[in-house]
Amino acid sequence: MKLCCNSKDILKSSHLKATEKRLKLLNLILTRASSFSAGQLFDDIQHILAIDLATIYRILQIFEEKNIIRKVVEKNGVQYYESACEHQPEHSHFICESCDQIICLKDLKENEQDFIKKLDIPYDVSRITLFVKGICNKCKESDEQ
Ligand SMILES: [Zn+2]
Ligand SMILES: [Zn+2]
Ligand SMILES: [Zn+2]
Repeated sequence: MKLCCNSKDILKSSHLKATEKRLKLLNLILTRASSFSAGQLFDDIQHILAIDLATIYRILQIFEEKNIIRKVVEKNGVQYYESACEHQPEHSHFICESCDQIICLKDLKENEQDFIKKLDIPYDVSRITLFVKGICNKCKESDEQ
C-alpha cells in the first residue's frame, strides 16, 4: 500500500532517531486509513518484527507527544489513535453503537464551523471536534434484512 508520507522524514523532522521499530510501526500507521489501537498494530506487525506490546505503547506515546499521531477516542478502556500527518487534518468522528466501528468524518469541516458558531461557547475556543454516535450503514442494512 502506498504511504502518503515518508516515515524517515517524519521521524527526522520530529528529532527522533529512526530505529527499525519506529520506522516499521510508523509505516504501518501511515498505511492505515482509519484509527487503530496498540493491540491492533501488534497483531499486524508481530509477524514481521520482533516487538512486544509494551514497546508499541511506548513508541505510540512518543509519537503522540511529537504530534505524529493523535488520540481519537477511548473505547472500553482501549485508546484509539490515528495518523496526524499533514494529509490528516483534525476532524470529527462517527462511532457505531452496534459494531463499534470508528468512521472519520473528514468532509464535515465547513458545516462544522457554522455549527460551532451557533453553539456560542463563552470561552476562547482553540479547536473543536465532534463525536457523533449512531448506527453505521452496514449495521443498518443487516438490521433491515
Ligand atoms: Zn501523510
Ligand atoms: Zn456498525
Ligand atoms: Zn479520523
